Amino acid sequence: MTLTPESAAAFAELVTNELGEGIASTDPDLILKCSSDWSRMSPILQEKLPPGRFPADLVVRPTSAEQVPAFLKLAFEHDVPVVPRGAGTGNYGQATPFTGGAVLDLRGLDAIVEVGDGYVVAQAGAKLTAVDDAVRASGQDLWMFPSTKGSTVGGFVAGGSAGAGTIEFGTTADGFVAAMTIAPCDGSGETFHVEGEATIPYVHTYGVTGVATEITLRCSPARDWVAMYASFTDYDKALAVHRALPGLSVLPRLASLDEPGLVATLPAALPLDATKTSLRIILEASTVEEAADLVVEGSGEVVAVFEDYAECDRLSSMSYNHPVYFLQKSGRNCFHVEVGGLPLWDSPESVRTVYPGSMIHMELRVEAPMAMYVADYESEAQVLAGFPKLEELGIGFHSPHQWAVDRHVAEAIATVPTTDPKGLLNQGKLDRDAVVPPQADTRNEVLIARTTVLSS
Ligand SMILES: Cc1cc2nc3c(=O)[nH]c(=O)nc-3n(C[C@H](O)[C@H](O)[C@H](O)COP(=O)(O)OP(=O)(O)OC[C@H]3O[C@@H](n4cnc5c(N)ncnc54)[C@H](O)[C@@H]3O)c2cc1C
Repeated sequence: MTLTPESAAAFAELVTNELGEGIASTDPDLILKCSSDWSRMSPILQEKLPPGRFPADLVVRPTSAEQVPAFLKLAFEHDVPVVPRGAGTGNYGQATPFTGGAVLDLRGLDAIVEVGDGYVVAQAGAKLTAVDDAVRASGQDLWMFPSTKGSTVGGFVAGGSAGAGTIEFGTTADGFVAAMTIAPCDGSGETFHVEGEATIPYVHTYGVTGVATEITLRCSPARDWVAMYASFTDYDKALAVHRALPGLSVLPRLASLDEPGLVATLPAALPLDATKTSLRIILEASTVEEAADLVVEGSGEVVAVFEDYAECDRLSSMSYNHPVYFLQKSGRNCFHVEVGGLPLWDSPESVRTVYPGSMIHMELRVEAPMAMYVADYESEAQVLAGFPKLEELGIGFHSPHQWAVDRHVAEAIATVPTTDPKGLLNQGKLDRDAVVPPQADTRNEVLIARTTVLSS
C-alpha cells in the first residue's frame, strides 16, 4: 500500500499507541537521513538513488526486542512496507525504501546479551566495535568484522560478507552465524529461532526473509594481534610476499595490499611513501619475525610494527572498500568492482587491461586473493562493458552497482512465502519469481567459487 501523509501519520500514531511514545516518527529530517545508505560509493547508484528520491513515510525505532514482532504485526495488518536498517553503511542501496512505508531502525537494540565459550549473543543493533570489545574482554576473538566496524551486527549479517578474520574463517555464510532470532512479517507478532545451516536464508539477503532481533556469532581463543606496515618498490615482489603469507605458522587476520596510486590517501598511523606498494598485515605477534623475513627476502622493508590493538583496528579501517572511499573522498570520481581469483596474483597486468588506468586494492584469502578493482568513472555502460571481459580472464566479480539480493537467492525465495507472505519486507530487492538453481550460491562465494574451479 502507498501511504499518503495522512495515512502515514495515522499509522505512526497507531504504532505510538501500541508500542510507546517516541518509537514512531514522521520527522522529515529523520526520514531523509534514514532513507538512504552508503550507495553513494557507486557513481551509478548515486545517480539512481540520490538522497530524497525514495523517502520512507515514517521511521520506527524500537528500544526492546519485543517491539519488533509487535510492530511487524501492525505493518502486516495495515499493509505497510518495512525496510530494516542498522547503521546504513551498506553500499549497494540495500536499505533504500523504494516503496516508502517504514524504515525500522534497529540501533536501539544494542545489548550484548551473553559472551560464552566460543560464542557471543548480541541484539541486532549492537555495534561490532562494542561486540568486539566484549569478546576481547572475555579472552576471545570475534571470528570476523568488516572494515566498517561501527556498523551493526544485524546489518553485517544481513548486508555484508567479509572482513578482518575472513582469511581464516571465510565469509559470514561459513559458520560465523551460529543462530538468529527472526521476526517474520506474517501477522503472528512472534519470533522464531534458527541455527546453523538454517540461518542461510537470512544471511546477506537484506532482511527480505525476516528481521533479525538477536544473533549468535562465533568466537575463538584470543590471539595477540599486532599491526605491521611494509612497503615495496617492486609490485610483483610485493605480490609474491602477499601470496606467501598463508604459510605463516599462524594465519594473519588481515593482509591488505595497495599499489602506489591508492597509498597517498590512506589515513595510516605513520606517513606512507606514496611511490611504493603498501602491505599492511594484522598478524599474530609470534609470527612477526617470520613475516619480516618474508618481506625482506621479497626486497621489501618493514616500516613499522604496532603492538596496540587499536592500531590493528586502524589497519582494518583501511581494508576492503575503504581505500576506494578514501580515494573518492580526495576528489577522484572513481568506481570499483569486487573481484577475486588467482589471475590477480598471477597476471595483474592482464586484469588491469579491463578498465584502462585502473588500480587494485587486494585482500588476502588462502585460496586466492579478493580485491577492489578501482578505475575512473565515465558511465554505467563503461562499467558494465568490463564484466564480460573479467569473465573471459577467469576473474570472479560481484557488482556493487545494483541492489537486488544476489546471494542465497534460492533459499530466500523458498523462505519468503512463509516469513513474508504479503511481500512487505524490503520491497524491490528480491525477484520472487526468479528461477535459480537451489543451493547455487549457498556458501556466499561468488568470488571464491570461481577460484576453486580455476585452481582445481
Ligand atoms: C567504506 C565502506 C567499507 C565497507 N567495508 C566492508 C567490509 O569490510 N566488509 C563487508 O562485508 N562490508 C563492508 N561494507 C558494507 C557495509 O558496511 C557492511 O555490510 C555493514 O556491515 C552493514 O552494516 P550496517 O549496520 O551499516 O547495515 P545497513 O547498511 O543498515 O543494512 C544492510 C542491509 O541489511 C538489512 N538489515 C539491517 N539490519 C537488519 C536486521 N536486523 N535484520 C534484517 N535485515 C537487516 C538492511 O535492510 C540492508 O539491506 C563497507 C561499506 C563501506 C561504505
